Amino acid sequence: MTATKTHRPSESEDTDANWRMHCLGDPPLEARVEAWMTERFRDPRQLNKLVAKYGSPLNLVATSPLERNLDQLRKAAERRQLDFRSYFARKANKCLAFVHAAAEAGAGVDVASLEECRQTLQAGVHPSDLICTAAVKTDELLDLCVTNQVCIALDNLDELTGIRKRVAQSNDRGLLAMRVSGFRHQGDKLHSRFGFDIDEASGVATRLASDDGVSLRGIHFHLDGYCPQQRVSAIGQCLTLIDNARAAGHDIRFLDIGGGLPISYLREEVQWREFLDAHQKALRGEWSPVTYRNHGLGMSLVNGEVVGKRNTYPYWQSPVRAGWLESILDSRLPEGETVAEGIRRRELQLRCEPGRSILDGCGVTVARVEFVKRHVGGDHFVGLAMNRTQCRTGSDDFLVDPILLPIRNSEDDMSGLQRSGFLVGAYCTESELLSLRRLSFPRGVQAGDLIVFPNTAGYFMHFLESRSHQFPLAKNLVVSEGSPREFVLDEIDASDDGASEAKS
Ligand SMILES: *Cc1c(COP(=O)(O)O)cnc(C)c1O
Repeated sequence: MTATKTHRPSESEDTDANWRMHCLGDPPLEARVEAWMTERFRDPRQLNKLVAKYGSPLNLVATSPLERNLDQLRKAAERRQLDFRSYFARKANKCLAFVHAAAEAGAGVDVASLEECRQTLQAGVHPSDLICTAAVKTDELLDLCVTNQVCIALDNLDELTGIRKRVAQSNDRGLLAMRVSGFRHQGDKLHSRFGFDIDEASGVATRLASDDGVSLRGIHFHLDGYCPQQRVSAIGQCLTLIDNARAAGHDIRFLDIGGGLPISYLREEVQWREFLDAHQKALRGEWSPVTYRNHGLGMSLVNGEVVGKRNTYPYWQSPVRAGWLESILDSRLPEGETVAEGIRRRELQLRCEPGRSILDGCGVTVARVEFVKRHVGGDHFVGLAMNRTQCRTGSDDFLVDPILLPIRNSEDDMSGLQRSGFLVGAYCTESELLSLRRLSFPRGVQAGDLIVFPNTAGYFMHFLESRSHQFPLAKNLVVSEGSPREFVLDEIDASDDGASEAKS
């Protein structure tokens, strides 16, 4: 450390608080972060160079957390002597780095479209390590699956007709997992548009048994939401279905319980509780708004009561990932044995299709501040070179505190720059906010600074990204820890950029 540095104010020091303190939500929701991320936060000028080279926003991804996350799931199953395999749901992020990393870690890949399937095969993943769960399967996709012997998650009988047609034209067999839904749970039926209703599935399996072009190898479901008890109900009903299908002559080898393994984005539960509480109070008018124009995030005030359901991810929850899986495996089935015992006794392979949960910690999105302006109402608008489809899922908002990395001269006078307001984006609509949360910038924010959205690899980067206004899509850089070439453009972008490598 140089003499000059010791005399600088504390903000030039590499402390955890340093990079967190420039932007705080009001009230704060501090992100869980990974070491590979904080290393980059400490060198904003290098990030700035990358954004200058590749454009704003820029997605940075790292694969090491994915390996760790997969390992946690594997160990949870191993402790219960289960034959177990994860299939990475790659629709959660398009980068091929994750396909390679998942395959190297011994996982399979769940593909949800023709392009995802084709790329995954081209990446060298063995067809037997794929499952195709596309919601709508075109003839071309069915063709690709049948000729490569990729297992198809069968959704409906028209799909079966399409598969039969392909099988009849070749000597291939169709490998199937039947997707099932409509499970009974605590007196209700769980609604879904996908797959065969559980009450009709045994009949379908019986009919399939006389079809010599296809082989039913597994039973599959994927449920909305994160409720472990619903999974226990579904598994119990699937095990009965598997017994029936085996009795009808099918060689059922696996039960695939889909994805939806929960994660937490926040460091502390208390901040999540405080935010929800402040938001409710703000909606009732008892507190100043914590969201843009008192946005309800799915809820609204009716006769003084907050009604409706929050349309956001539960940013803090427990248990997560492996702990959540364990709670399911150790739950009792109606027969009295545990889920793990029921699966083991039948010599089934247990499969799951995690997307978000194994991308936990695998990415950040970095954008450049282009303007800061004060609205007549007093709030500031911080305009980023980015649009909201570049950090958004199907739900209302990204609620985690973004991180502000100042790119300014240490000589800059920052007195009087304290700001509070909202991040706005590049689409020309009034509702174009990058975060609906009120943020404060205790030491100011200026054009040229960087804003980092933490932990965006699962869904936030790509699930809704659009090219409206003809803005180019964000580039995706893979951070290779310990490698001399520290940043490499992901293969998904390499095709439209000849110079696919960036020296750090
Ligand atoms: C989206 C999806 C997944 C992955 O869900 P996550 O919540 O990301 O774990 C798995 N399987 C199917 C069929 C899906 O549609």
